[in-house]
Amino acid sequence: MIRPLSARCALLFVLLPSVALFSSVGLASTIPIPKPRPASPVLPAVAATSTQPGDLPVKEAAPIVPVPKPRPLPTKLEDVDLKVAKLAGLPGEEVECRNRLTAMGVHFSPAGRIDGADGCGIAYPIKITGLPGGVKLSGRTVLGCEASEALASWTTKVVVPQAKKQFGKVLTGIDQYANYVCRTRNSQNGTKLSEHAKGNAIDLGRFHLSDGTVVDVGSEPDTGTPEQLFLKVLRDEGCAYFTTVLGPGSDDFHSDHFHFDMAKRRRGYRYCK
Ligand SMILES: [Zn+2]
Repeated sequence: MIRPLSARCALLFVLLPSVALFSSVGLASTIPIPKPRPASPVLPAVAATSTQPGDLPVKEAAPIVPVPKPRPLPTKLEDVDLKVAKLAGLPGEEVECRNRLTAMGVHFSPAGRIDGADGCGIAYPIKITGLPGGVKLSGRTVLGCEASEALASWTTKVVVPQAKKQFGKVLTGIDQYANYVCRTRNSQNGTKLSEHAKGNAIDLGRFHLSDGTVVDVGSEPDTGTPEQLFLKVLRDEGCAYFTTVLGPGSDDFHSDHFHFDMAKRRRGYRYCK
């Protein structure tokens, strides 16, 4: 490294023979050499572009400003993982289904596994305490998540808009007549297990509107009335959300309510009568 010399020292170099230049170390020992001046602003720039080993780039010589560590942002995946951990072994698809219910505005709480007799039961039941849009669901309603999602979607996309269209009112509540129950189809001996016994079915009997109007499925309204159109659309459109739709006229067991379920059939066949 070249050290800057004072004017006096430079004069000595001029006066001494050139041989003396090679003994400048000796001179330095007797003639005090001023301390190097502070580095000029130019020097760091030279160092910054230098590739000589040992040179420090300017950025490393700059004062160290503490950089706060970035906070971990919550992600959907982490939320899911958290819920899985909390609910101890709940399958991912069940967690995703429940997340969709929450996103739709369904109020519910997890219920304990139901192991009924003769194949009845629900592996991951939930208790619905409210439907989207503040729509009340009467009574204690326990279903599987798939049926709950179908019910919530149908309520939001069909019932609520139809209440507005046919009556100009807000849907405030739905009366359910049956949800989970361990029984055979229509409670008849010798028949298959009902979808109700798997948490896959719900029976709905009455719809409440904001002006106090109650539309009863079993009321047999006159053709062309708002009530008749309302119930017809609810039932027809229900087939897009549930795989089974029954009601008045289907048989003697469904004269006063709609039965909706999520029965699985070959080739995705739906039974809407
Ligand atoms: Zn039913």
